[in-house]
Amino acid sequence: MPDPVVTPEAILKDQVRMTLDDHFTFHCGPNQDCFTGCCHDVSIVLTPYDILRLKKALRVDSTEFLEKHTLPIFGAQQKFPLTILRMDPETKKCPFVTAQGCQVYADRPWACRMYPLGVAKPKNPTPTDQPFYFVLHEDLCHGHGQGKTRTVREWIAEQGIEEYEMMGASFQELALHDFWNREPALTPQQAEMFYMACYDLDRFRRFVFESRFLELFEIDEARVEALRSDDEELLEFGLLWLRFSLFGEKTMKIRREVVEARKQAPSQGAATVAPGSAV
Ligand code: SF4
Ligand code: SF4
Repeated sequence: MPDPVVTPEAILKDQVRMTLDDHFTFHCGPNQDCFTGCCHDVSIVLTPYDILRLKKALRVDSTEFLEKHTLPIFGAQQKFPLTILRMDPETKKCPFVTAQGCQVYADRPWACRMYPLGVAKPKNPTPTDQPFYFVLHEDLCHGHGQGKTRTVREWIAEQGIEEYEMMGASFQELALHDFWNREPALTPQQAEMFYMACYDLDRFRRFVFESRFLELFEIDEARVEALRSDDEELLEFGLLWLRFSLFGEKTMKIRREVVEARKQAPSQGAATVAPGSAV
């Protein structure tokens, strides 16, 4: 199954553009002769919330999950690090597919939920720009034209996609930020910060609580407590920290005493706290 977020408009010139209220007819299930055929040799980009859900479902630490089940991608084509689901190197199958179906169905990634729908979003959207949808037709998938006819909106509700979109909104804002048009590339340290805060949440938590992070930033007690155990809260917080550190936005507040100390000894460096920095 291809990545259903398609950005270059050129790819879409032959696709029928659909709104949330347009209909399509599709059926997927164990009675299809193609059942699980789409869970083989696919490139699935994982969002931060996908990783959060999968590592919780598998009851493993994010670091372990990333090492076992993902491949990082950060080349000349990407402005920031991405992760894809690692297929079995020999069989090319998704690590979670069984003869009975998806082993992590309740927590399957956003891309798996969307399929066969794709969504396209303008690269530099204006406030009135809406995403549009299209149906991906691939020879391997025999579900088209079968079963129920429903609207795109109904599919999104049935597949539990709303929650993923809600949790993914802050990441999407970060990913579409104008910063990426202005800056040529992240430094290795910035890329490491990005990867940790977005994907390796348990390591980010250790970083927050085991470095001087909390001595430098003013964060209210209730939030600090939530960050200890609430992954969703930690993910949102990590994205604010990235906006502060990478984009220079005032999403975090440095403690007054730290600012004063820095004024006395400016050679101590910037207030950005990053993994590997002297914190
Ligand atoms: S996560 Fe589940 S639905 Fe997605 S490719 Fe793997 S087995 Fe298939
Ligand atoms: S119908 Fe399509 S989506 Fe469903 S199992 Fe077959 S190939 Fe996969």
